[in-house]
Amino acid sequence: LTPVPSDIEISRAQTPKPVDQLAEEIGLLPEELEAYGRSKAKVQLSLLDRLHKQPDGKLVLVAGITPTPLGEGKSTVTIGLVQALSAHLKLNSFACLRQPSQGPTFGVKGGAAGGGYAQVIPMEEFNLHLTGDIHAITAANNLVAAAIDARMLHEATQSDKALFNRLVPSVNGVRKFSPIQISRLRRLGINKIDSASLTLQEVSTFVRLDLDPSKITWQRVLDTNDRFLRKITVGQASTEKGQIRETGFDIAVASEIMAILALADSLEDMKNRLARMVVGTSRSGQPVTTEDLGVSGALAVLMKDAIKPTLMQTLEGTPVFVHAGPFANIAHGNSSVLADKLALKLVGRDGFVVTEAGFGADIGMEKFFNIKCRASGLRPNVVVLVATVRALKMHGGGPNVSAGAPLPREYIDENLSLVAGGCHSNLRKQIQIADVFGVPVVVALNVFKTDTQAEIDLVCQLAKECGASDAVPCHHWAQGGRGSIELAQAVNEAASRPSNFQFLYNKEMPIVEKIRTIAQRVYGADDIELSPEARAKIDYYNQQGYGSLPICMAKTHLSLSHMPDKKGAPTGFVLPIRDVRASIGAGFIYPLVGTMSTMPGLPTRPCFYDIDLDPVTEEITGLF
Ligand code: ADP
Repeated sequence: LTPVPSDIEISRAQTPKPVDQLAEEIGLLPEELEAYGRSKAKVQLSLLDRLHKQPDGKLVLVAGITPTPLGEGKSTVTIGLVQALSAHLKLNSFACLRQPSQGPTFGVKGGAAGGGYAQVIPMEEFNLHLTGDIHAITAANNLVAAAIDARMLHEATQSDKALFNRLVPSVNGVRKFSPIQISRLRRLGINKIDSASLTLQEVSTFVRLDLDPSKITWQRVLDTNDRFLRKITVGQASTEKGQIRETGFDIAVASEIMAILALADSLEDMKNRLARMVVGTSRSGQPVTTEDLGVSGALAVLMKDAIKPTLMQTLEGTPVFVHAGPFANIAHGNSSVLADKLALKLVGRDGFVVTEAGFGADIGMEKFFNIKCRASGLRPNVVVLVATVRALKMHGGGPNVSAGAPLPREYIDENLSLVAGGCHSNLRKQIQIADVFGVPVVVALNVFKTDTQAEIDLVCQLAKECGASDAVPCHHWAQGGRGSIELAQAVNEAASRPSNFQFLYNKEMPIVEKIRTIAQRVYGADDIELSPEARAKIDYYNQQGYGSLPICMAKTHLSLSHMPDKKGAPTGFVLPIRDVRASIGAGFIYPLVGTMSTMPGLPTRPCFYDIDLDPVTEEITGLF
């Protein structure tokens, strides 16, 4: 339709096919499906065993130029591309997307189901609770937080003997250690597991985690942009006997448990990762894990359904997996390994799995390759790099705009020199980054109605001159899959060429060298500058044996550099590393570049002002 209706109007106008019909079409057995309502279902991981002999399809990663407030449309391109591949080129295809956080849905950004005629439907189910995975993460994360504070209280107020009696109950006169406690005793080097033979010193070491309150790294989480929870004080009731400490909340998708959900490749792997999470340090400097707290088995129980990807569909009835949703700036920004692996089996040798990496290629794609591909063995065949004329104009020197403000003329009228400026700076750099990894790049120009033909032609021409193997305009937002046929053909063609995928760094490189390599070869920095705190943490992580973990940079997504207002491709800067932290369960070290907020706030007029429900028809309005 012209004009194109709102995202939610388009989504509502299409009735999704029943999820069991979709499942049958893609080769799932009824017993492999757990329906949540009529249009979404979780898929059993046993499918991987059933299809293990099936050859994998080709993996396409959708990444973008550096985001601007004008929007680029990576999710929209991902959906448009699978719609074109399936419905128009008749190639099996699957999209694998992240579940959006409700924080941004009610805050500034809106949802993440794509847009226009390239969407996942029903978009309101996609954007809201879905099948409860984020709620499960919130519950698991906060159980750990409760376990930490309760344990510190009990250790502070009880003797070794009283703690031992409560932690290891006696049944018919025999002490019953739980499997998690036996594992802890073994890690402490105590192999004779029998209460009678434990020395007083061993009992004390076993019962006292002795967490240093100033070195607890675990925070509580909530899936709401609630800025007032960034810093809080807990333990103020008299029942907590003065065990008061300052802590804070992060947005739920920043939880390490979200990163684990995205990286685990089986239930067992998830369980082991959940047990390895380090929540803080003891007064003697030893890491304290969730297994030490005795909570790791319960975490696996809380997460046992979340590990199954959720099956949904596009507006054109093609399959989509929605699974996991870490942010790309503070976490690794990619949907789950398991969803990709299942989808690659389901599409078969000639099929395509298209997945999206958050934010610009310098962040989401770099982490997709160095973290997700390394952890999983997944290998990409093609990168689709999404650009828009408007965003390129901003990178080429166009004026800044704030979200929701009227667009300056530069973004509405033809302006070839700004477009060329953006192509020669940010687009060129992002293509070069994909090149470093040896993967062919197809530039997808997501066309807006204000773009002129001369601007579109210029981007496609310059993108190829900058090293893209192809560059095509796409019109899926206004036309659905048929608007992206040219992109689907270009991707099919690029995927038939060999990809010489390689990692950017060897994981055995020293931590500082890994950080420097990313800063110089990906961001274009001259060098890095480590704060004394960052240096001390790196020394500590080396001592603890974490030195060979990959790096997950926590950096602004708004610039290739650490300075959000520097557009294009900044040069001549030194990247400051303020602090370095570690997610041992997820399996990465994360340096903090400048100050990064892990709990977004709400603006004066958040998206929720426009969101409403008709109590008679139950229709939702205002989601986008
Ligand atoms: P990203 O994945 O890069 O964050 P999305 O695909 O979620 O971006 O798109 C952001 C918003 O921009 C959506 O509301 C979508 O409807 C809108 N949008 C995307 N492409 C176009 C387009 N070509 N024309 C108009 N609006 C678009």
